[in-house]
Formats: sequence, C-alpha cells, structure tokens
Amino acid sequence: MSSDQWQDFLDTAASIGVVVERNRPMAQNTTYGVGGHAACAVTVASRRDLQEVADLLAAHPHIPVAVVGRGSNLLVADDGFNGVVVFMSYSATDNDIELVGEDIVAPGSLPMPILARRSVALQRSGLEWCVGIPGSVGGAVRMNAGGHGAEIVDSLLTAEIVSLRSGRWATIAAADLGFHFRGSALAAHHVVVSARLRSHERSLESPDLDAVVTWRRQNQPGGRNAGSVFVNPAQGDGSAGALIDSCGLREFAVGGARVSEKHANFIQASDGATAGNIVAVMQHVQETVEARIGIRLRSEVCLLGFAPEIAHAFSDPRHNEPERIANAKRLCELMGETA
Ligand SMILES: Cc1cc2nc3c(=O)[nH]c(=O)nc-3n(C[C@H](O)[C@H](O)[C@H](O)COP(=O)(O)OP(=O)(O)OC[C@H]3O[C@@H](n4cnc5c(N)ncnc54)[C@H](O)[C@@H]3O)c2cc1C
Repeated sequence: MSSDQWQDFLDTAASIGVVVERNRPMAQNTTYGVGGHAACAVTVASRRDLQEVADLLAAHPHIPVAVVGRGSNLLVADDGFNGVVVFMSYSATDNDIELVGEDIVAPGSLPMPILARRSVALQRSGLEWCVGIPGSVGGAVRMNAGGHGAEIVDSLLTAEIVSLRSGRWATIAAADLGFHFRGSALAAHHVVVSARLRSHERSLESPDLDAVVTWRRQNQPGGRNAGSVFVNPAQGDGSAGALIDSCGLREFAVGGARVSEKHANFIQASDGATAGNIVAVMQHVQETVEARIGIRLRSEVCLLGFAPEIAHAFSDPRHNEPERIANAKRLCELMGETA
C-alpha cells in the first residue's frame, strides 16, 4: 500500500464519518497478547457502522482486511499488519440472543460462553459446549469451532454475512459455507454478522455447563495461549497433540514461548514473549514431528501479517483441493463479488 492509497482511503473514511484509528496496537486484542500494530483499525458496534465500513472497504478493494472477534485464535506478527482490522465490538447491553421458534439467533460479536449461558437460561439445549470456547460466534463460524463432540456446523442453520469487497449482505445457508474440520469457505473479507442456530428443549439429560468448564480447567492450560496450535492431521494419523507429545516436545521453549506442559498442542506465552518466539516454537515442532513421524503439521491458529513464506509453511495444503476452491468461489459469487 502506497502512502497515496492510504491517504485516499483515509479521506474517503473522513468524508463518510467512519472513525479510523492509525497504528492500532493489536496485542491487547489477542489472547496471546503479542504482536505489532495494525496500520488502520475500525471498530464496529452496530449494523449501521458495519454497512458504512463495508461500503468504505468495498470502494478500496486492494486494501488487505482482517476481522477480529475475541482474538482467541489469532497470532499477529511483531511487525504488525499493513491493512485494516475490523474489530467486532461486544457490548453486554445490545448483544442479546433471540429465540425464533426453536432456533437461536446470535450476533457475530457475542462471546461463545455467553451464547451457551443465555441459551440455557432460555431452557434451550444443544449449545452447552460453547461455554468452553473463548471466541465469538463469528469467529466460531469462520473456524467451525468445536469441542466435546460437537462443532458449530452441527447447529448452524444460516449465517448472515456481509462482504467487505462488494458491500452486500446475504443470509447464507450452512450448506453453502463450505465447512471442514476447523475451517470454512469464509474469506478474510467476509464478516459474520449473526448466526441462526438449531436448539431443542433442555431436559434432565442435557449437558451441564459446569461440567464443561471443569473439564476444560482440568485438561487445558490457562494463561496466554490460543488453544490448539496445529490442526489434527488426516483421520487415523492421531491428534496433533499426541504426535507432538510422542516427540517429547512438551515444555520446548524459545524466549517467552513454550509448548504447554499440560497439553502438547498448546503454546503458552509469558511476559516478554514475542510473536517471533511463538513462530519459532511452531517451526521447531513442525520440523521435529515431520522428521520423526513424517507428518507435516499445519496451523489451526490464524497468522496475521507474517511474511508469505511463513504463512505458506503453516498453511494447510488441503485448502488447495478443488472442492475447497469451488466452495470458496461459490460463496464469493453468492456475496456478489466479481472475480
Ligand atoms: C484457551 C483456549 C481454548 C480453545 N479451545 C478451543 C476448542 O476447544 N475448539 C475450538 O474450535 N477452538 C478453540 N479455541 C480457539 C478459538 O477460541 C476459536 O477458534 C474461536 O472460534 C475463535 O473466535 P474469535 O472470535 O476469538 O476469533 P479471532 O481469533 O478473533 O479470529 C479467528 C478467525 O476468525 C475470523 N473472525 C473473527 N470474528 C469474525 C466475524 N465476526 N466474522 C468473520 N470472521 C471472523 C478472523 O478473521 C480470523 O480469521 C481455543 C482458544 C483458547 C484461547
């Protein structure tokens, strides 16, 4: 991005009243708590804000964009991100869930634990597992988040999406979102505004929220991390955590980043950690597992602002399979985007 292109973007933003923050620190908005600045950031607190931002960005399609929810699956490079970050702001007062017939409609910015608790308060079942996911509903749809034997695709009926490339809003059926294990066909410029989720009446057999929370505390580390770092390899090859463990990599550390002692697929950040430390641990884990077991682990955590060779080293080659490419293309067409 040249300075002229940025100036043009900022002038348009000012002319339509969108507040753009320059050089916005990102560390505070991720659970790793590391990383540099975003060149520009906008915070979206209402549907009107989002429409303005979508129109603005659609008029500047060359600008890299990234949507950020709770930052619980995000690693931002130490050099930051030379693009516009769209923050989905959450406010406890205006982000409630709605019961529409049997379905629950939740805003994209709503934290998953709140979705779980409010659903249970409405005597609805099916979303209890969400209490253990520290992300937002939008981030969960993008990532097809899951746990405790369920994932978002099991409950999702439709998602309301806005494209930051065409400015168009559309309600997209779950079948058109190209879900796969810990991912979807949604691109960086697609914002999940809301999700309509299937639910059923709670009964005595329904899962207990406290049991989910207790299981998490017992089996996963606290502190600064982004959950599972590597996506599980193909079925039958074992979990990424078990592979890392079998290579004796628990507690392997670089600077302030360390493979968790409690769960080998988690990397913990401590004071003084940098994104570079975390990536160095990821590289060592990836190389060691590949050398010893012959499986190349790929990142589940989203990398933002890294050099293409780093992003490529961790990117899942399954994204290049014809079916995934076709799904992504179809979704862009549904969102009114030109190639
Ligand atoms: C302690 C811990 C435990 C975890 N356990 C699990 C687990 O059991 N299962 C699991 O699946 N994940 C787990 N995670 C990872 C994480 O919570 C999920 O991936 C979550 O869905 C990410 O949501 P987020 O709002 O934090 O997304 P972010 O980290 O903010 O972003 C992640 C991705 O989603 C996109 N995104 C965010 N919001 C939106 C939106 N509104 N519209 C479109 N795209 C959006 C971002 O652009 C990015 O590509 C864990 C994380 C932590 C820290």
